[in-house]
Amino acid sequence: MPVIGVPRETFPGETRVALIPQHAGQLVRDTHAVVVQRGAGHAASFADDQYEAAGATLASDADAVFEQAEIVVKVRPPAEDEAAKMKRGAIYLGFLSPATHGASVRSLAQQGVTAYALEYVPRISRAQSMDALSSMATVAGYRAVLIAASAIGKMFPLLITAAGTVPPATVLVLGAGVAGLQAIATAKRLGAKVEAFDPRPAVAEQVRSLGATFVEMELPKEDVETAGGYAREQSAEFLRKEQEAIGARLPKVHAVITTAQVFGQRAPILVTAEMVSRMPSGSVIVDLASESGGNCELTRPGATIEHRGVTIVGASNLPASVPIDASQMYSRNVYNLLKHMYPKADAPIDSDEEILRGARLTRDGAIVNEAVRALVERG
Ligand code: NAD
Repeated sequence: MPVIGVPRETFPGETRVALIPQHAGQLVRDTHAVVVQRGAGHAASFADDQYEAAGATLASDADAVFEQAEIVVKVRPPAEDEAAKMKRGAIYLGFLSPATHGASVRSLAQQGVTAYALEYVPRISRAQSMDALSSMATVAGYRAVLIAASAIGKMFPLLITAAGTVPPATVLVLGAGVAGLQAIATAKRLGAKVEAFDPRPAVAEQVRSLGATFVEMELPKEDVETAGGYAREQSAEFLRKEQEAIGARLPKVHAVITTAQVFGQRAPILVTAEMVSRMPSGSVIVDLASESGGNCELTRPGATIEHRGVTIVGASNLPASVPIDASQMYSRNVYNLLKHMYPKADAPIDSDEEILRGARLTRDGAIVNEAVRALVERG
């Protein structure tokens, strides 16, 4: 029966834990052994006692976890030295961010670790319950709206009071994928007037079904969607026209939430510095694409800046600011993937099955995903 290990996250500001006591307990009932580093769940409000009560064993430090674990589960990609501590032939399961953590991926390969990256789980219906990109985007979209609501000097809902009528805030959401749709739903629940745009045609209906207005734009006809449902990179002309259409709305908008991403590319610039100057003083942009370069030209990842009275939040790792639910959702994704891998604790499924093959980055001493190998070799 493989031993599943949960080390404490070491990345600064990371509060999530990869496995919560509830799922540790389910794995123990499935006859796996689970070893958890003391304090691993602390920042997400999960106490060591809860893990013990669920049947997990506690380890005093990370080394003890890496020594015992045949499967290591994590949120953040392992640091190079963590990867080097893993047992030869062990399995890693968690985010891997190969574009920024090439050395760790190489180190996992050298250790003979079979590494599964959660962000590479194929986005097919069957794998939805293991899709941590989507679950974390859901948390980020929700949180972005709360940040926007507390940054503007205005309330979101329409209020009719004895002290007069307060008009609602207008929120513009750019990019209506997983994070954007959750941002729309959250802003609507808070009573804002919500507008949204996404170049993928299927999205207009989803936006309207949440009670928001889909912003119609006259844009060049382009093939905007990949077979996998992602947006394709758009032409310079497409983006120029889109910026024009967004720019025309900005003087009336109090909060902009940007979530636009093109898989594997720098995020498109949708709001230029000049466009920011057209926004009302006291308004805010929360840029969820900040770590992929930002949708606003002025965004600084991880920082909040002000430009002519407009606050621009370079949002980074928002799920870590909602650690209880973010851990709960992430842990559920991890549990479902483990359950998929091991329908019975002593009987793993064929590792060449579609979901495992898609998520696997290293095996038998090599990086087995060609695109990732090229990325890591480029450095
Ligand atoms: P993402 O994070 O890559 O991108 C976010 C959004 O930005 C996307 O909706 C994209 O269309 C949009 N975008 C790109 N360029 C833009 C531009 N110039 N202006 C405005 N918006 C722009 O995508 P995501 O949210 O992770 O997923 C996108 C879609 O993939 C989902 O809406 C869904 O249709 C599909 N999906 C399917 C599954 C599944 O079947 N298992 C799981 C997750 C997502």
